[in-house]
Amino acid sequence: MEEPEYVLICVAWPYANGPLHLGHVAGCYLPPDIHLRFERALGNRVLLVSGSDEHGTPITVTAEQQGVKPQDIVDKYHKINKQALLNLGCAWEPNIDPRGIEYGGALFNRTSDPRHKRYVQENFLALHKAGMFEKKTMHQYYEIRKDGGGRFLPDRYIEGTCPNCEYESARGDQCDECGTTYEASELSSPHSKMNPNADIEIRDTDHFFFRLDLFQKSLELHSKDNWDDWKTNVKAMTKNWLDMGLRPRAVTRDLEWGIKLPLEGDEWDGKCVYVWFEAVQGYYTCARIWSEEFAEQTHPDGNAAWEKWWKNPESGVQPRHLYFLGKDNIPFHTVIWPALIMGLNNTDKKVSADSDLRPGIGDLHLEDNVPAMEYLMLAGGQFSKSRKHAVWLPAFLERFQPDTIRYYLSINMPENHDTDFNWPDFVEKVNNELIGTYGNFVHRVMTLAARLDEGTGENPLTKYNDLSIMGTEIDKITELHSKITTSLQKHRYKEALRSAMNIAQLGNQMLQEATPWKFLKEPGDADDEWYTAREISLAKLAFGWRISRTLAILTQPFIPFSAQQLWNNLGLTGEVSQVSWSDALNWDDAMGWTGEIPEPLFTKLDLQEILEQENQLAEQSTTSESQDPTHGVKGGKKKENEKMVEAPEGITYLEFDTFLKVELRTGRITKVEDHPNADKLYVVSIDDGTTEGRTVCAGLKPYYSIGEMEGKSVVFVANLQPRKLRGVMSEGMLLAADDGNDNVKLISIDGEISVGSLVR
Ligand SMILES: [Zn+2]
Repeated sequence: MEEPEYVLICVAWPYANGPLHLGHVAGCYLPPDIHLRFERALGNRVLLVSGSDEHGTPITVTAEQQGVKPQDIVDKYHKINKQALLNLGCAWEPNIDPRGIEYGGALFNRTSDPRHKRYVQENFLALHKAGMFEKKTMHQYYEIRKDGGGRFLPDRYIEGTCPNCEYESARGDQCDECGTTYEASELSSPHSKMNPNADIEIRDTDHFFFRLDLFQKSLELHSKDNWDDWKTNVKAMTKNWLDMGLRPRAVTRDLEWGIKLPLEGDEWDGKCVYVWFEAVQGYYTCARIWSEEFAEQTHPDGNAAWEKWWKNPESGVQPRHLYFLGKDNIPFHTVIWPALIMGLNNTDKKVSADSDLRPGIGDLHLEDNVPAMEYLMLAGGQFSKSRKHAVWLPAFLERFQPDTIRYYLSINMPENHDTDFNWPDFVEKVNNELIGTYGNFVHRVMTLAARLDEGTGENPLTKYNDLSIMGTEIDKITELHSKITTSLQKHRYKEALRSAMNIAQLGNQMLQEATPWKFLKEPGDADDEWYTAREISLAKLAFGWRISRTLAILTQPFIPFSAQQLWNNLGLTGEVSQVSWSDALNWDDAMGWTGEIPEPLFTKLDLQEILEQENQLAEQSTTSESQDPTHGVKGGKKKENEKMVEAPEGITYLEFDTFLKVELRTGRITKVEDHPNADKLYVVSIDDGTTEGRTVCAGLKPYYSIGEMEGKSVVFVANLQPRKLRGVMSEGMLLAADDGNDNVKLISIDGEISVGSLVR
């Protein structure tokens, strides 16, 4: 047997400013749980770390919007989210691995933990003293109150128009629409998010910056070490950052809610450690806190147990670090966090941009793989906590078996491209695959076996067990077992589950061909031929019991509740999660028996019923005053004047009156010019039937030449509020179709009609 590995599984820290939704689950929280269960079954020693990210502006923004204290928000959502993850079956508890403390465990901590604060402050000081920070004066937006006082506005308190894609509600640091990051000062039409009418101005403020540039070369070398294992999206994003050249990054900010700077002096009042700087350190502090709390008395290394998962040992196998997160978080885990770790490893020496700072013996280990996911979409649109376009996990788990969503999100996991959640697909996959293939197979085996039961307490199939005729099936299952293992090692969860389902499929086919139900009772004219056929048929049924056992072990990472239930139904004892992965191919295990016909593992879903419930919940959430987004389908209160009604499939229905408010008209493009200040924009003159005509800025430059556009009949939105785009007034919007694959076509008119005609 190989030496067990120390595997640290790090899960992106969810902001405690709202409940988790299914997009988070598919992107961040389900994959690491599947992986942890797989690694444990392999016999490895796994430590699982994460927790609530409780500082920073996402929290203060939510608190301000709800008129409560930040502490109230984080207390509430830490509890709700941790419970929801446990209800989903994620292995955050028990904190100590059931096999023993030396096998590791799990801790879902909080960044408000004083021990976390202490470690972060220690690290801050160590990096500061080692010269890895520099002080710079920043220009920061400042909101001026009527009484003359005011406050600095962190990035999330600023909104404006994205300098890249012109999206109007772009945040101060990153655009939700196109993903570009920038400085808040690059936004056009900036305003305070909380008080859009308040005066704002740019003021000077001093901050510390982490010298990311010192780690450029080391990070390039380090990423090459792992390059072949990384997913395409991870490589692309990392390369992008490294190619741009790393610049110092602010580690302090003007905000009260956060970890105080461990520095003397009035000039640091009202400032705290930037949330990115402390939250990524949570992977490290959480391991240390787990050690302090659980390992001190019981682990052979006591308080230093965490080092087994974090430090490169003098000899033997290095720990393996896996980080699970959504694609928007990749550079933090392949560039910024490894740079910080290398910084912490080298506080005793003078580092320069030429140094190779990759960890040596006794150093903190760097990430081995970052299997970041793409997005799970909701009926075609992006899940959004802030826009409340979501299916909330707590509400979901009140109504459905957790394994149904674990199955669906696994088989539909956004591994290499965005995937979509919608109710009809959910119901179809659960009913036809999880129940139709898996549930039915194991249930069939058990009910047929029960009909042979003679009440001896023995499994009635035992006497028909005959592995000598099962060669083909054993070969196929052995091959699938090895495929599942490889897929899981490569973080291809969808593929792994598909192969496991193929085993159930194989079992179904085997039973279908063997027709054991014809051999349960001896007919009056039974002859030798019948008895020979019976031996073979019931041997297959007996092997069906063994396949069910194999399935319980191999599907345990994906659907742990049902796998355990199946294990119990098979008359086996103990926890299936503690059975070794290779034991799935053990064909000699004694065949257990409970003497009862088990209940089916799953309840069939009724789409019609679900859609009706969704409609009711959607109505409640639009009419109720409740601010509690853990309940309701897509939660949250709608603004009354929007008159939106949420449809079950995630479609947002628009009331007809609202649609009529949009004035669409026909026009002819008379002139197209390059926008003087924007690379992607044209300034388009349109004959709209009025004498003066109108001007519209359109982002069509990548798709149309000027010649192709001039003379075209088009449809435009005539009553949009005119606004300046990079200095040019735009009076409307041209309609164009976009297939999402860089193919954009203007909407044109079918035949002749006078310019300025109303479009309905
Ligand atoms: Zn943008």
